[in-house]
Amino acid sequence: MSPTQTAQTMDGTSLARRMVEEAAAEAAKISRRTGTSPCLATVLVGEDPASVTYVRMKRTRCAKAGIQSRHIALPAATTTAELIDTLNGLSNDPEVHGILLQHPCGPHIDERAAFEAIAPEKDVDGVTTHSFAAMTFALPGFVSCTPGGIMRLLEEYDVGLAGKHAVVVGRSAILGKPVGMLLLSQDATVTYCHSRTADLSAIVREADIVVAAVGRPRLIRGEDIKPGAVVIDAGYNSGNVGDVDFNAALTRARLITPVPGGVGPMTIAVLLAQTVEAAANQLGFQEL
Ligand code: NAP
Repeated sequence: MSPTQTAQTMDGTSLARRMVEEAAAEAAKISRRTGTSPCLATVLVGEDPASVTYVRMKRTRCAKAGIQSRHIALPAATTTAELIDTLNGLSNDPEVHGILLQHPCGPHIDERAAFEAIAPEKDVDGVTTHSFAAMTFALPGFVSCTPGGIMRLLEEYDVGLAGKHAVVVGRSAILGKPVGMLLLSQDATVTYCHSRTADLSAIVREADIVVAAVGRPRLIRGEDIKPGAVVIDAGYNSGNVGDVDFNAALTRARLITPVPGGVGPMTIAVLLAQTVEAAANQLGFQEL
């Protein structure tokens, strides 16, 4: 620890590894007792290099955890209707337990319509309106993976949320919005900030918990972190840079996630855990 550092870093890599080990053990039990391995279908439209890499990474992790994956690579010119057909097919296929539509799918695709073609019980990436509503009402269902991972990290480090002021910077459907709802469900007082927020610094300065989910390098300044705050940096920008000025925030925060090695690894861990859970539900597998 440097002389001015006060924060403890939150180790997403180790926690994610443990979660994947647990998912793998559960997947093995399911395979042994039912004769069927959990199976995740990954769907990719086009050949965007980053998306190809993300899907490959997810499938490799699945394989290591004893989860089968089935990959459907669709040409870039695929229409929304064709994509929906594919997703409907997977939703009705009993051999597939979870479905991941890698996004963004391209500007010509109505992504929201495509997501809605994923059966809720197979929505292990938590992208459907059904999953969002279930999460909001604390009903059974799957959460969006990155927000789920953030909540698991907060739990692991015993961050009490009740009555705390949580400031979420970013309001995307897969990250900012759901993480704010999850924080609210645990009795935090939540403020959302976005591109039209007036005086972001003043609001961040009031935060006991800051969740940065923007995609702008070092947007959150260290001097705006309230001493003793918990800082979750979900941002990922080129050069392994987060949305928070990490070195400056380190001197004021109590807990902080590094980039990389904080939120990033948690996302895949939640995806695998939810795929195994979906398989258990669909196969009627229960612990003896
Ligand atoms: P997104 O859809 O582009 O949303 C960005 C959000 O940031 C929007 O709500 C936008 O506001 C807000 N914003 C933009 N400029 C702002 C500013 N100057 N001040 C305050 N808010 C501002 O991005 P996303 O998909 O949520 O991803 C956000 C970041 O998280 C990215 O760096 C991404 O790489 C990362 N990410 C990481 C993981 C992971 O596994 N670790 C997963 C998903 C995303 P408006 O709504 O007003 O436009």
